[in-house]
Formats: sequence, C-alpha cells, structure tokens
Amino acid sequence: MNKVRHVLGISGGKDSAALAIYLKDKYPTLDIDFYTCDTKCELTETEQLVERLRSYLGKIITLQAAKDSPEPTPFDHILKINGGFLPSVQQRWCTQKMKLAEFEKYVGNDMAISYVGIRGDEDRDGYVSTKPNIQSIFPFRRNIWSLDVINKVLGNASIDKFNDCYRSVADDDVYEQAQKFIIAPLTKDFFYSKKLNALLDVDIKTFNHAVFAFLKEYTDYPVGKLDSFPLLDNEDVLCKEDILRVLEESGVGVPAYYNLIDFEVDGKIGQYCRSRSGCYFCFFQQKIEWIWLYEQHPDLFQKAMEYEKDGYTWIQGEPLEKLIRPERVRQIKLDHIKKTEDLKAKSKSKLLIDIFEDDEINCANCFI
Ligand code: SF4
Repeated sequence: MNKVRHVLGISGGKDSAALAIYLKDKYPTLDIDFYTCDTKCELTETEQLVERLRSYLGKIITLQAAKDSPEPTPFDHILKINGGFLPSVQQRWCTQKMKLAEFEKYVGNDMAISYVGIRGDEDRDGYVSTKPNIQSIFPFRRNIWSLDVINKVLGNASIDKFNDCYRSVADDDVYEQAQKFIIAPLTKDFFYSKKLNALLDVDIKTFNHAVFAFLKEYTDYPVGKLDSFPLLDNEDVLCKEDILRVLEESGVGVPAYYNLIDFEVDGKIGQYCRSRSGCYFCFFQQKIEWIWLYEQHPDLFQKAMEYEKDGYTWIQGEPLEKLIRPERVRQIKLDHIKKTEDLKAKSKSKLLIDIFEDDEINCANCFI
C-alpha cells in the first residue's frame, strides 16, 4: 500500500497555527509535515509567529516560489513576468503562483491528507485541491469532510452503497435512527446540508466511520487508503474563543498584528489592528487596515505604494497616495469607529477582535 502523507499549511494566521498545535497535542501519532509558503512579503509579526510555532512543533518546512530569482521576493519575480499587473480579487494570481503551485509541487503525486483550519463557527469551505491525490480534512468543524466527499457519499446514486457502509459500522439503535435519513433521496427540501446535519445529529462518530468505509470501498481518496484514521472519533468543534485559548495555553500566543491599538480622531477614540495574515499589501484588507499599515509600518506602506504604477492600484479606483490624504484618513477612521459601535451593539461576542473581524471578507486569507 502507498504511504499516505499528512500535511498542514501554516499560513501565519491564528487558525492554522492553532490547528497545528491542536493536532500535534491531541494526535501525536499522526506524522504531520508542517509547511509554510514564504512569500517574503509577510509582516514581521507573522514571521515571529511562525518562528514561535517552529519551536513548538519542532519543524516547519519552508516552501518558496522562484527561489533562484534575482528579484528580491517571489512576488516581484512573478509580477515582472505578469508585466506589472497587480493581483486583485478577480485576478488572484498571487495565491496560485506563490502558494498553491508550490504546495502541489511539494506533494507531487503522493497521496496526501491536507488539514485545513476552518473553524466550527465559520460558514465557508476551505481550500480543496483539484488534484485527486490531495484530500482536505477540517478537524475544527463538526463535519470534517470536504464538500466533494459529502456530495459523493450522500448523492442519490450512492444511497444503497452508503446504507451498506453505515449498516456495517453502526450499532442497531444508531442505525435505526439514521436509516430513514440515509435512504431518503435528496430533494429541493432535503438537500445535502440537511441530510448531512440529520446524520451528524444522530451520531458523528458513526457517520465518520461510515464515510471512511465508503471511501475505502468505492473511491481512491487518500483517507480511504489508511488502515485507520483517528479523526473519525473526533467530535470537537473549535470556534474562535477556543482557537485563542489553544494559542495562549501553548505559549505560542496570538499573532501580534491582532493587538488592538488605540487611535484618536476628532476627540473620539477608536481601535484598529490587522485582522489577517498574508502579504502586507494584500488587496483583501479593509481600508482601516491600510491605515493601520500606513501608521504602524510606514516603510511597508511606502513599498506597497511603489507597486502602484501604470494605472494598477491595490484598491479599485483609489490609489494609496489618495487614501492617506489627511481628510481621507480622518473619514476612514470615523467610519470605522461608527461601524465598530454598530457591530458592538449587534454582536453577542465579548471579544473585541471578534467585533473587528465580523466585518472580515470571507475567504480573505490565503489558507492552504
Ligand atoms: S495574502 Fe493576499 S496578496 Fe498575498 S498571496 Fe494571499 S491573496 Fe495574494
């Protein structure tokens, strides 16, 4: 049997860091390769987090695109090839070229399970490779499986097969509760997510073992090539507060860019920070985060400005040199204070960072 590799990408953000710590501590027998993609465009705070993690985990492999290039960073190298065409939400070549391609090269044709730190309180799917030899698993969620696996297992064409698999692993009373959901065909009122949640409500472990049996019997997914998989018995769901606790208790701590910093505008006090890891010039950041960069890392802001040439800008329709005009900075800060107050009034969370992040664009980070 081919060896199946276990891999986990450290993005420099809190979720992947916490996942690495959690899996190392809870499943020490899983032989996980931790890796990070060094873009050479990260904040110092991110680099410091990766170094603390390296001490905790023992080893993190560093991947880097365009390693032999004379350009100062992989980004500069690829930007030059692209004729100065800056990446954007619509043309996100940076993630593809600097991270995903390096990751897929690193895995090659090996069978691999990639652990992804999507939290239990997030409503999004993480990165799922298009390569069939790489399977994503989401240990922080109630449903650890990726969408493609769920679609295959719970699709109408698999009803009989999945029923057999479930029957083979379930206790009689559990099977009795689950059977009506397993054999119910999908309809517009009983779609994948409803069927999935109904089965998870019956019993998470049994569902996982049944999926495992299905993958082994009917597919070539990497998890199906394992003799056993400890995550099948995992019922933990980790949300943001749990993530922060894992980081604090391990001694690794939260990335310093999360630290809220006070600012004053028109006699009002607000707070800002950076809510994501990734390149300092990331076009996913909010305007207040650009102001944070301008005031807390002026050298990096200056470098980001220098990339804006020939009509290419990081923010559509607003070059950075206009963003930092005093009146514009004042307005962005006032807007942020107002937005924060509104979110605070609506949010049940007691975490200030949570309130800040409520405004985060989903899928903003480069998680791999
Ligand atoms: S962090 Fe932002 S700029 Fe950097 S690779 Fe990811 S999406 Fe692109």
